Parts: sequence; C-alpha cells; structure tokens
Amino acid sequence: MGNSNKPSTFKFNPIYIYGAILIIVLAIQFYGTGGRPVETNWQEVKNTMLKNGDIEKIVIVNKTEAEIYLKESSYDKYKAKLESGISAPSKMGPHFTFNIGSVDVFESNLEKAQKEVGESSRVILTYETHTNYFSEIFSWIFPLLILVFFYFWIFKRMSKGGGAGNIFSVGKSQAKVFDKESRVSTTFKEVAGLAEAKQEIQEIVEFLKNPDRYTKLGGKIPKGALLVGPPGTGKTLLAKAVAGEAEVPFFSMSGSDFVEMFVGVGASRVRDLFKQAKEKSPCIVFIDEIDAIGRARGRNPNMGSNDERENTLNQLLTEMDGFDTNSGVIILAATNRADILDRALMRAGRFDRQIHVELPDMIDRKEIFEVHLRPLKLGKDVNVEFLAKQTPGFSGADIANVCNEAALIAARKLKEVVEKQDFLDAVDRIIGGLEKKNKIISVSEKATIAYHEAGHATVSWLLEHAHPLVKVTIVPRGKALGAAWYLPEERQITTKEQLLDEICATLGGRAAEELIFSSVSSGAQNDLEKVTRTSFAMVSYFGMSDKIGKVSYYDSTGQSDYSFTKPYSEKTAEVIDAEVNVIINKEYERAKNILKTNAEGHKKLAELLLEREVIFTEDLEHVFGPRPWNKTKEEEKAKEVIAASAEDKDTVV
Ligand code: ADP
Ligand code: ZN
Repeated sequence: MGNSNKPSTFKFNPIYIYGAILIIVLAIQFYGTGGRPVETNWQEVKNTMLKNGDIEKIVIVNKTEAEIYLKESSYDKYKAKLESGISAPSKMGPHFTFNIGSVDVFESNLEKAQKEVGESSRVILTYETHTNYFSEIFSWIFPLLILVFFYFWIFKRMSKGGGAGNIFSVGKSQAKVFDKESRVSTTFKEVAGLAEAKQEIQEIVEFLKNPDRYTKLGGKIPKGALLVGPPGTGKTLLAKAVAGEAEVPFFSMSGSDFVEMFVGVGASRVRDLFKQAKEKSPCIVFIDEIDAIGRARGRNPNMGSNDERENTLNQLLTEMDGFDTNSGVIILAATNRADILDRALMRAGRFDRQIHVELPDMIDRKEIFEVHLRPLKLGKDVNVEFLAKQTPGFSGADIANVCNEAALIAARKLKEVVEKQDFLDAVDRIIGGLEKKNKIISVSEKATIAYHEAGHATVSWLLEHAHPLVKVTIVPRGKALGAAWYLPEERQITTKEQLLDEICATLGGRAAEELIFSSVSSGAQNDLEKVTRTSFAMVSYFGMSDKIGKVSYYDSTGQSDYSFTKPYSEKTAEVIDAEVNVIINKEYERAKNILKTNAEGHKKLAELLLEREVIFTEDLEHVFGPRPWNKTKEEEKAKEVIAASAEDKDTVV
C-alpha cells in the first residue's frame, strides 16, 4: 500500500520512550538509590547484635517488618556481611531487616531479651507506616495500560489492514471483485421478465458505456439506485447484468459483511471499498441487503442504539457525498425492506432512484422457466406454460430451484430426460418440504385432520368472498399435518366482507373439530394466529370497527419513536381486545352454523379425504354444486391452477 519500499529497519516509535521510562522507574523501585537492608532473623539479632549492644534502634514498619539500625561504632563489625548483597545499604541504615510474626510477640520477645542483656544497652523501638504509593498506583495503572495498549494496537492493525489472510486484515473490504480478468458474463438475456426494472436500469448501462454523452450536456448521473423487492427476485442478477452489459468491473458485497464484532471495522471497510472502486472506475458497486447497515438510525436514546452500525452508515453517506458525480462509480443496493431504511440514504444525490423488482407474474414465470430449462434435457411432455401455472407466488430463485430439483429427481430415477412428473414432484417438495409418507399418524389423528381440513374446505366454498379453494390434502409435509390451497384473488384492496369471510373460513377447521369430536386440538394454533392477526388489523389498522372508529394505529414508516409503547391508551387497548374477540366469536359461530347446515357435505368431504388424502375443486363442486357467485373468469382460473400458494397449513405444536 505505502510508497516506501525500503526494507524497514528500526522505525522510531514514541512507544519506545514510554517503555524506557517504565523500565527505569521499575529499576529504581527495586534497587532503590541507597541500597536495601540485608535480610536477617530474630535469632541472630538476639544472640549477636543485641547481646553485644550493637543496635541503635529498631523501627517496625507497617507492623510486619523490623528494620535494624546499627550503632555507628558497630558498623564495621558487620561490614563484610552488609556488603555481600547486590547493593549494600547506606551507612545511615537501616542495615538489617527481618519479618516479625506479630507486633505483640515481637515486643514481648524483645522485652525478654532486653532483660537478659541488661538495661545498659536499651534499644529504641519506634513504629512507622510506609505507604508505597508507587506500587499502589502501579497495581492499578499497569493492567489498564496493558489494556489500552492492546486496544490501540488491534485498532491500528485493523484500520491499516495487514497482509491477505491475516486475521488483522478485517479492516479491508471483503468485496468480491469481478474485473477485467474475471469479467461478469451475465447479460440482460439471462434476466427473464422484470421488463420495467430492466428498462429503468438500462439508462445506467448507457451512462457507463458513454459517460461523455451525458456529462457534455451538463447532466448529472445518478450516483446510486436502490433495487427493492422480495428475496430471490433477481436483484443481484440484475446488478450483475448491468456490469456485464456495460463491460465494467463489478464489486459485490453484502451489507452484513460490513458488520464485524470489532468496533470501527464497518466504516473502515466502506472506506476501503470506495477507494478500490474509484481506482477501477467506471464500475459498479453492489451492496446486497443494505438494510443490515442502512436501517434508520436510532432515535430512542435510552435503547442503546447500535453505534457501530451507525458509524458504518455515516461513513457510507460520507463516501457517497464525497465522490464526484461523474467519477463513474455507480452504487446499486438491494433490499427487501425499503421502508426501514434511513431517510438520509434516499436523499437526492445518494440512492435517488428506486427500482422495484416484484415477484414474477405468470408470463414472467414462463420466461424465467425458459431461462432455467435451457440447460436441462427435457421430456416431450414438459410444457413451460403449464409449469408457470403451477408455481404462483414463486420467485425467480424458487423457479431455478424447481428446475434443479426436477433434474435431481429424474436422475435419482435413472431417467434419460426430465419429465413433467419430476417437475410436479419438485414443486410439491419446494412448497412443503419433503413429503413424510412414513410419518406415523394414528387413525383417530388422521380423522381429526381430515374433518378439520374438510371444515376449511366446506366453509370457504360456501362463503361468497372467501378465496376459492384449489386443493386440500392431509398428506403430512414438513411440519404441516394438512394443508388447504386457495387461489388468492389478485386484489389490491380488501373489503370488510372479504376479511370476515376469510376469518370465518379459517375458523372452519376448529369449528369442525368441535362439532364432530366435541373436543378441540392444538392443531388449529396456526389458524387462530392468522385469525387474531387479521381481526386485530381490521380493528386497529383498517378502521373497520365502530367502537374504535376510523382510526389507524399502523405505523407504515416503522420509524416511530415509540416502538415499545402502544400509540393508544390502556382503555383503547381494552376496547380493541374486546372488539377482536367479538369479531372472532361471531365468525366462529357463523362457521359452526354453516357446518351444521351442511353437515352431510362436510362428512362426505372428510371421508373422501380419508380415502384419497387429496381432494380438488372438482370434488367440492361435486358435493356442493358450483359456487353461484363465481365469476366465470375466476372459475376458469381456479380450474387451471392445481397448486396455488399454500395459504393454510395446520402445523403440529
Ligand atoms: P436476490 O438478489 O433478489 O435475492 P438473486 O438475484 O440472487 O436474488 O437471484 C437468485 C437466483 O434466482 C439467480 O441466480 C437466478 O438463477 C434466479 N433468478 C431470480 N430472478 C430471475 C430472473 N428474473 N430471471 C432469471 N433467473 C432469475
Ligand atoms: Zn386449519
């Protein structure tokens, strides 16, 4: 990185000065300037020094040590002994030292010895308390010093970045780089569907190819675009395709890559990423899952906001502001939650465009299938349109997965080509996890599940606004014991009647259990959860309750200051709870009534389910007759689609 390639010999560093001072201080502490008294013991003191009257005084230090000062006249007697140590004690003393057990014992010993020797050479006994400030302070400071030193050391290594593969290179951006050597080969041809998104992003390709055409006219190029859409819809693919089409380097990084356990790493990585990108401009920087760092900065001061994430975000904002619009670096970021992003990111001059990437509709799905079927060897019975119809609600990634899974299933069966049935199996598997045919379910359990599912089917069939049912099964898959698939109508707004009918149909399972077995099971937990959610939303979000009124407590920004307190009073909360209960109880009674009046049909369906495990729209029509209010268009659609999105799964708790 640096420009000095000299072999580094000795580099001066202020840390050495501190080190030297420390060592000197330590040395002074241990050896002192005047030397240290020589170690001795009580026997010697008593039998020689005291007996001969050589002692001038004894000082008891800190109640533990006795320091002996010799009479000046006696000093020479002990000279040899005193000078044998590393540093002889000064002439002033103390000359000898020894540990006394306790002051009391020492005093009485001394008293006795003194009496034996005679009063003529009485020793002066004094007491002193020495505080060793140095060692006191030192025992505090030293560990602290070590910590601070270590912290700075790591921090420095981190922000500088060591060699590759070094754990201290965390400060480097971990972006995957596709440049001239490993150019992105993805083109728009591989991105199926997404016509609108492609059109919007085309402009960015144009700019990267001919920047002059835009800048000549004084136009400013967008710095960044935000790709918003559910996971697996091809956001990464789209960004890669831009790089591939424009033939520029592509930096790819995930928002979560910026976040490490060390403080300051995120910001350092952002800096590094932009530095690299500017060197390779024009180029594209792609940040996946930008919500990992771009979430709205905390406004709740006592919630301990995530400083590290905020620092990273601030650095990102700074970098985006910092570079020249025409430097040729374009930032594409992907998220599935644009609503929680910090508003500062959306300001002009940053991610000023949002490109929506939605789940594919049927025509798009067909195109996506075409892309992913290309490498497969297909049987004659595979029809792309049919496959597209089988996979409502699937994302592009799911479809890619279906194609791969189908090929694996066919290979397992030692087939030469991938056939229609393999695709159907793959779809089933992806919808519900692996089929668990061998999961042991007792006969009575199976009956409960059958009546429960038949209850859903019956009620939803007989309600005008409930989603038309497509398929009901009691084959356990994954955690689900049974499931009913509905064809979700493509509607943008939902009326109160529709919501109520849906609640009623969802409660149909539980109602059936109560009617038939006069007991209820835990299997309806999922249903109840859904019902509670819907009715709560009706009351407190959609303003559909008379008691609460036309009020919505929904916070669509997700940035409320009071995320942990309700925006309504306790009293209102009670009313909401009561209203939710009223709705659910009313709909439950309605479901029970429907089942009672159609008990025969319900029973027939349940028996059919027990026998065949799967029933379809036709069977329902057979039992109850066609739905009178079915609009013919919808009816046709319902028949075409065999598996729609799984709307209701009854899971084991
Ligand atoms: P996202 O970034 O939106 O989560 P990706 O771009 O990573 O999704 O998509 C994952 C995979 O799904 C892609 O590699 C591709 O194989 C497939 N895929 C998704 N959308 C499409 C599409 N529109 N056309 C073709 N393949 C797609
Ligand atoms: Zn259910």
